[in-house]
Amino acid sequence: ATEIRLASRPTGRPTPDNFSIVDTEVPDAGPGEVLVRNQFISVDPYMRGRMSAAKSYVAPFEVGKVMQGGAVGEVLESTVDSVRPGDTVVHQYGWRSHAVLAADKVSKVDPGVVPVSTYLGVLGMTGLTAYAGLLDVAKFQAGDVVFVSGAAGAVGSMVGQLAKLKGASRVVGSAGSTEKVKHLTDDLGFDAAFNYKDGPVAEQLEAAAPDGIDVYFDNVGGEHLEAAIAQANLHARFAICGMISIYNATEPPAAPRNMMQIVGKRLTIRGFLVGDHYDLHGQFVSEVAPLVRDGKLRYEETVVEGLRNAPQAFLDLLDGANTGKMLVKL
Ligand code: NDP
Repeated sequence: ATEIRLASRPTGRPTPDNFSIVDTEVPDAGPGEVLVRNQFISVDPYMRGRMSAAKSYVAPFEVGKVMQGGAVGEVLESTVDSVRPGDTVVHQYGWRSHAVLAADKVSKVDPGVVPVSTYLGVLGMTGLTAYAGLLDVAKFQAGDVVFVSGAAGAVGSMVGQLAKLKGASRVVGSAGSTEKVKHLTDDLGFDAAFNYKDGPVAEQLEAAAPDGIDVYFDNVGGEHLEAAIAQANLHARFAICGMISIYNATEPPAAPRNMMQIVGKRLTIRGFLVGDHYDLHGQFVSEVAPLVRDGKLRYEETVVEGLRNAPQAFLDLLDGANTGKMLVKL
């Protein structure tokens, strides 16, 4: 077995030295436990926060200990009746080839209908984040103009497509490369998209959404958030999902500088965590799984092969190497 441990805490941008790759014995399942061979593990932006010691909404990873995160795999051994060898399960013991954990901490999924990797992305945590954030947090309504940042990523690509499918009058996305911008408009049906590296976000957003925006789904923070406040219509709603532009920052962000507009425009700006929205999980799966199956909702995956490449996959995710969900295949 192999596992990835946190070797040291990063300052600013993480490096491969912050991780160690350790070969271990395959563990046995004890009473009430299962042994899972992981097939895919998820690397996610929030893990950058867990590498730091700062208090946050999830406990920091411990230095010298194996890291954690979403994973999907096949049960090899079980000591309980409810989960049997051969079952496919989703759980939180990623960053390792083999996981032993309490049987009540795994969720069985059906490997026959869709690829198992989708349970970490479009039909998993990032999918539910997009669904709950757009519909429940931002209170999306047909006719809204929607702006989403990080639009070519796992969450953002789904937000834009869902808004379109549900009758948005205009969907605008931003992303960090020409190819990603083209993907948004040509493949995913966005009405307009821009590369935030090409020029000031405020100017590019104004050109892409000249009549203003009613919903902003924020994955990025900083300059994007400032631009969205500037372009917001009266009573616009913001779902604040993440702020990846500042995850590696060592200084407080310079933007937004225009927060007083929140008052005059009567904006609703609401942060949220997907973990609070699992009440919507059943509704989410029954609505989104058929859209995925029928090809009405597209999902991309950027798959890196080999557990030993997981640290690099995570570093590349922070640099924008992925289109859609970043995954590691074991
Ligand atoms: P993505 O698939 O979107 O991958 C991260 C992307 O962020 C990269 O591909 C890169 O794309 C972009 N990025 C990196 N640095 C910057 C920067 N400085 N400015 C703008 N964009 C940048 O990841 P996820 O879909 O998993 O997550 C998206 C966001 O949602 C993150 O902020 C994450 O923390 C948050 N999140 C929040 C949850 C919650 O419960 N609130 C749950 C899940 C995710 P590009 O090439 O376009 O720069």
